[in-house]
Amino acid sequence: MKALPIPHQKGEEVNSRRSGELSRKGDAAMDRPLRLRAHHLLCIHGFRGMGYDDEFVVNMSEIVRRFHGEPELQIQVLNNLDAVCSACPSNGGDVCERERRDRHIQAMDGRVIEKLGLTAGGIYTRDELVRRTAAAVAPEDLDVLCQGCRWLPCGVCKEGMAALRAATGRNPDGSRS
Ligand code: SF4
Ligand code: SF4
Repeated sequence: MKALPIPHQKGEEVNSRRSGELSRKGDAAMDRPLRLRAHHLLCIHGFRGMGYDDEFVVNMSEIVRRFHGEPELQIQVLNNLDAVCSACPSNGGDVCERERRDRHIQAMDGRVIEKLGLTAGGIYTRDELVRRTAAAVAPEDLDVLCQGCRWLPCGVCKEGMAALRAATGRNPDGSRS
């Protein structure tokens, strides 16, 4: 599968608790699997440069750039803090602070893991994850998978899923075109 179109790009990130593992640790980090919690496998396709603050947006932009540009990228699928959380103001060190309050974030991870037939902790190529996502997730599925997410009403995530299906040669219902 060819490189996917990049919907948005920016620069880098920093901070202590918010370690920003992608940009700060350089090439060594590039050799390890990219750690992504499951629901972020959906967020990546709808990312349009919005986020919690500048550091978050810069880090997320770099992750999205790598994801779209490296079909063979190894990704470890998690249900807890990941490379995106590493630059998020809600990173509580060992858990997402929003998870402490709302209890919906790991539930989203669980639903995505089940929907895509993944194993928490498993390592997959980006291409495999894109294939599974395009085949299994319709834009309207986000109403269930992403229940409780503040970004869902924006609509960009559903647009992203529709664009993914189009870019991977699938009809809107997920069948092969
Ligand atoms: S609605 Fe929220 S969890 Fe779902 S893809 Fe968008 S940002 Fe991610
Ligand atoms: S809100 Fe929580 S799950 Fe989302 S990126 Fe921030 S720390 Fe991670």
